Amino acid sequence: MKKLSILLSLTVLTFSCKQYTKPADRKSTTKKEHSLTSDFDTATIKKHLYTLASDDMQGRATGTPGIEKAAQYIENEFKKIGLSYYDTLTSYRQNFEERNIKMFNVVGVLEGKSKKDEYVIVSAHYDHLEMLKEGEGDRIYNGANDDASGVTGVIALAEYFKNKGTNERSIVFVCFTAEEMGLIGSKYFGKGINANKFVAGINLELIGKEPKTGPKTAWLTGFDRSDFGKIIQKNLEGTGYKLYPDPYPKYNLFFRSDNASLARLGVPSHTFSTTPIDTDPDYHKVTDEAETLDVNVLTETIKAVAIGTSSIINGKDTPTRVTIK
Ligand SMILES: [Zn+2]
Repeated sequence: MKKLSILLSLTVLTFSCKQYTKPADRKSTTKKEHSLTSDFDTATIKKHLYTLASDDMQGRATGTPGIEKAAQYIENEFKKIGLSYYDTLTSYRQNFEERNIKMFNVVGVLEGKSKKDEYVIVSAHYDHLEMLKEGEGDRIYNGANDDASGVTGVIALAEYFKNKGTNERSIVFVCFTAEEMGLIGSKYFGKGINANKFVAGINLELIGKEPKTGPKTAWLTGFDRSDFGKIIQKNLEGTGYKLYPDPYPKYNLFFRSDNASLARLGVPSHTFSTTPIDTDPDYHKVTDEAETLDVNVLTETIKAVAIGTSSIINGKDTPTRVTIK
């Protein structure tokens, strides 16, 4: 009951905030930005996170009613933002079957202004883990940080870039399924693309906790595998936000999230993360709840990704390709 009332009040808050954050109003009233978060509505970000990580979604395991609810939420947001369907799809769902489970990625597109055929992918995985079959107390793996935080980022960035209207390149927003089963959704997506048309991959994983690199920082997997990270660092100069190379090289994280499925095809596709995963008590635990995240960290990171990737989105920078031996 408590969670329900929190959600309801958040919804009301979000609706009332919306009146003040219409893009048209923003242009005429925005002063010089002092905060990285000023273009993003924290209440909306909180609503996405708390909804996707709610007990109602039952951990969003692939093939369950819980993940269906999550998909409907994402589709509804994509529709409100005004994203188009991808390629030949007739809905936001890219359906397929694997291991006898019907599953689907959720995909929406913001068409590029002048470089329509050059794609930048913005992604996160919307699946998580099965509920514990038995036991006392909390049995739901909410996957708030892993990866409701990233999906929140995808939705928020879709709205941001739609409002901004400066995407010379097409942006493909993808919420991948079955990442936790072995990057299945992203592998399927990768099979259907002409990788040469994909100039960059921006993947978001575990972006809701302060990293060991300190406040207002994030780290990037596979930093040295292309100059993508250097481009981001250049764009973040003067913002007070810093991007570092992945501090856990031994964990091989570059190959442990959906960015890898595209990187194997040559796409400079990297994962942004903030969480100190070596000491995080909630990673792949039932305690990965929305309440354990810092919504300000999440919001600032999403904003940093928006600013950091801007020159790739607007077609000025093209990161070098990745080669994997
Ligand atoms: Zn994950």
